[in-house]
Amino acid sequence: MALTFPPRELYYNGQTHPASSGKTFQTINPATATPLADIQIASHADIDAAIAAGERAFPAWSQTPAIARARILHKAASLLRERNDEIARVETLDSGKAFTETSTVDVVTGADVLEYYANFIGGGGLNGETTQLREDAWVYTKKAALGVCAGIGAWNYPIQIALWKSAACLAAGNTMVYKPSEFTPLHAQTLAQIYTEAGLPAGVFNVVNGAGDVGAYLTSHPSIAKVSFTGQVSTGQKVAGSAAGNMKYVTMELGGKSPLIICPDADLESAVDGAMMANFYSTGQVCTNGTRVFVPRSLKTPFEKRLLEKIPFIRAGPLFDDQTNFGPLSSKVHQEKVLSYIRHGIESDKATLLCGGTGKPDVPKDLLDGFWVKPTIFTDCTDDMRIVKEEIFGPVMSILYYDTVDEAVQRANATELGLAAGVFTKDLNQAHRVIDQLQAGITWVNTWGESPAEMAVGGWKKSGLGVENGRRGIEAWVQNKSTLVDMCGSVATVFAKL
Ligand code: NAD
Repeated sequence: MALTFPPRELYYNGQTHPASSGKTFQTINPATATPLADIQIASHADIDAAIAAGERAFPAWSQTPAIARARILHKAASLLRERNDEIARVETLDSGKAFTETSTVDVVTGADVLEYYANFIGGGGLNGETTQLREDAWVYTKKAALGVCAGIGAWNYPIQIALWKSAACLAAGNTMVYKPSEFTPLHAQTLAQIYTEAGLPAGVFNVVNGAGDVGAYLTSHPSIAKVSFTGQVSTGQKVAGSAAGNMKYVTMELGGKSPLIICPDADLESAVDGAMMANFYSTGQVCTNGTRVFVPRSLKTPFEKRLLEKIPFIRAGPLFDDQTNFGPLSSKVHQEKVLSYIRHGIESDKATLLCGGTGKPDVPKDLLDGFWVKPTIFTDCTDDMRIVKEEIFGPVMSILYYDTVDEAVQRANATELGLAAGVFTKDLNQAHRVIDQLQAGITWVNTWGESPAEMAVGGWKKSGLGVENGRRGIEAWVQNKSTLVDMCGSVATVFAKL
């Protein structure tokens, strides 16, 4: 049977190259479980060649004036916007996310970051600083690019992750070898071609395909100066461990089990909408999901009632239908993982199943083989349950009741993870007090999930290291060089006489 897309090769030195391994894997449409394309797997020699292309391109790119780099990134952002729907269509087929989502969020929020950093460097954002020390001496600090960097992507926001990493990396004057997730690799070559069309010199952005072994070889390669990784905590620990031994810079964007605290005075309608967005958007496959929903015991009945009234607004169905706002999970293996957590919640944790479960949502016959899971809510959960403690990364909400806000905050923080957190309340003082106490790097008040280019995002505790986006995000892609200049004409020496 002919596949939907031609095979994907590797991309380096400004063009595609067949992989020398002779090996391929297939990427699968999660809505129908049918293969979409053969993806060629990079051999060690191919990865070496992609890194060598990045090394050759680095001296000229890092010395290109910031304003000239900015022009190319701006051009790439406009090409992405012009081709938004075409790229979003591929993302929908590859990742299983509804087109209503990929066409309005995935490409757009990636292009936003590209534009943000183009504006930032074009406006002198990477200028260093000068400090007058004395009348005849000063220090200047320059920001220098790092070299060839590795970008490793997860499957949940494929092109957005590729752009969040490459935008800051390239803006700062580095070159990159990017490896997309083996579950959603289709965007990578398209992005590389757009960069080339925008005028990016050959070798500045390169792509290799493959699974964890390809990622491990790439990230531990001695010529890689920095690793920017998005994925699970356990994988991040391995990658950061190997990078640390070689003194590579790292940014780690890892998993979470984030708390959402609804205060007794919260607007019920907003709180329910926030909890729905924090659990069911993107079929729950968002790293910052607020999966532990803390609700005052006094609000149990109205909260659950309103939640159940809104569950029918989650519409699974054909992914290109403009009514569909809920897709399948991204792969069979992930569907099995999420279903096993739901089963565990029912059978072992013995949480109360408010809705959902292990069945499939109501989808047309031709989609029944897809990796669908029902939006699921467990209530009366306790902190020791496995479904409450571990990241499920699917559409599974756990409701936990509490008696005092202080108790909710303390329970919310009782985890090794610290990616995101949020609070719903009408009391301004309470909002700031609670947010201040929550141990997480990304927090929201009376909303959930928005992550604009201006907002530096990254996890606390085991959820990560460093941040992406915003002014802080680009600092992770440069190293500082401080120079002290002394003009007094003589060196202050302790060795001038006997
Ligand atoms: P994963 O850790 O399984 O894989 C992520 C990437 O790492 C893939 O490209 C994979 O091929 C690669 N990889 C696997 N083993 C490797 C190794 N030893 N060395 C180098 N690379 C290796 O994660 P996933 O299942 O693709 O993604 C889901 C996870 O990502 C969730 O935990 C989610 O919370 C997290 N995530 C975090 C953020 C964030 O910004 N914090 C954003 C999106 C996703």
